[in-house]
Amino acid sequence: MKDSSTDAYAWLERSLATIHRANWHRSVQPIQGHPAAVVELEGCPMINFASNDYLGLAGDERLIQAAVEATQELGTGSTGSRLLSGHRQLHRELEEAIASLKQTEDALVFSSGYLANLGTIAALVGQRDLILSDQYNHSSLKKGATLSGATVVDYLHCDIEDLQAKLEQHRQQYRRCLIITDSIFSMDGDLCPLPQLLELAEARSCMLLVDEAHATGVMGATGAGCVEYWGCTKRPLIQIGTLSKALGSLGGYVAGSATLIEFLRNRAPSWIYTTGLSPADTAAAVAALAIVRNEPQRRAWLWHNVETLKRQLPKPKLLPSESAILCMRTETSADALATAKRLQEAGIFAPAIRPPTVPTSRIRVSVMATHQPEHLQQLSIALTQSRDLGTSSTSEVRG
Ligand SMILES: *Cc1c(COP(=O)(O)O)cnc(C)c1O
Repeated sequence: MKDSSTDAYAWLERSLATIHRANWHRSVQPIQGHPAAVVELEGCPMINFASNDYLGLAGDERLIQAAVEATQELGTGSTGSRLLSGHRQLHRELEEAIASLKQTEDALVFSSGYLANLGTIAALVGQRDLILSDQYNHSSLKKGATLSGATVVDYLHCDIEDLQAKLEQHRQQYRRCLIITDSIFSMDGDLCPLPQLLELAEARSCMLLVDEAHATGVMGATGAGCVEYWGCTKRPLIQIGTLSKALGSLGGYVAGSATLIEFLRNRAPSWIYTTGLSPADTAAAVAALAIVRNEPQRRAWLWHNVETLKRQLPKPKLLPSESAILCMRTETSADALATAKRLQEAGIFAPAIRPPTVPTSRIRVSVMATHQPEHLQQLSIALTQSRDLGTSSTSEVRG
C-alpha cells in the first residue's frame, strides 16, 4: 500500500467510502438472454420494470433480423466519421424515417442521445449566449449546457412563471437564448408544458430544444412524441431523442429544419469527430420506426397497461405522471434500497433511484406494452405490502 499523503489516487477510495456511507453507491447487475417483460437476473426470472424498451422491440425478431442482414451486407463497424469514410445510404434512410415520423424537414443521427444533446447545445450557443434549463433536466442536457460555455440559468421544474421572470431578468444581456427541457422527465414521468414554453420562446426570441427520449414511439397518435401529443407539430423547435428506448436500438437524433440540420452537420463536434452508427444499430432503428408506424396497437397496449397499473398502485406514494414512467416515493435512500431488494426477492426488477440522480428517493417503474396483467398485479401487491416506502410524506433535502 502506498502512503496516502503521497499517493495521488488515494482520494478515490475516500470518495467511494463517502458514497457508500450516504447509501448512494451503485453497481451493475447482468441480465441474461433477450430483453423482454420477463428477464433473467442472476439465473432467476424477474418481471422487468426497469427497461426503457416501452414497446418491447429490443428483442423483436424483425429488428434482430434487420441487424443481422445489415451486418452481413455492410460489416460490423462504419469505420470512420460520417464526413469521411463512415457514411452509408442506410444512415440517410434512418434520418429520413425519423424526419418523416416527426414531420420535420430533416434529421441527423448521432452515436447516442447523450452525444446528440452535447453536440447540439454546444453548437447552438456559446459565451455570449443564455441557456434557460429546467432544474430536473437529464444529465445530457445539463452537461451540454455547461460544455457550451453559455450562461446557464435553471428555472423551477415546469414553472412557466419562474421561466418568464428569469427571461425578463436576463434575456436582454445576451445575444442568443436557448430554452432546454425534457419532454417527459425521465426520473419523474411528468410532462413539460410545451405549448406555454413555445409561446414564451416565440415572444422572447428564444430557441427551444425539447428532449423526446422517453416520448418517441410512445406519445402522440403516431408515436411522434410529446410534440405531437401537445399539437405542436411543425412549430419551430429543436427535437432531440434517442434510438435506444422505445426504438430498441442504439443512437440519438436531432430533428428540425433543414437549415438547423445542415448547420449541425458542419458545427456539432460530437457528430463530426466520432464514428458513424454501426450498420446493425442503424438497420434495427429503421425496422423499429416501421413498426412504430405500422403497429399502433403496441401503443394502445402500453397505455392500457399504464392506466391499469395507475389504478392499482398505492395512491399516496405515487408521483404525478402522464407517461409510462411511474414513481413511488420513499422516505430515504435506505428505504428505496430496501424496497427494491424486497421487490427483487418477489421476482420483480424495479430500481431504487436516489440522490444525486434525483432530489428525493423513489422506486421507478417503467411500463412496457408487453407486460401481462399478472405482471402488473404482482408489482402492485408487492408495493402495497412493502413497509419500506415509509408512512409520512416528509422528503429528503435536495442532494
Ligand atoms: C436516456 C436519455 C438520454 C440519453 O440517450 P442515450 O441514447 O441513451 O445516450 C438523453 N436524454 C434523456 C431525457 C434520456 O432519458
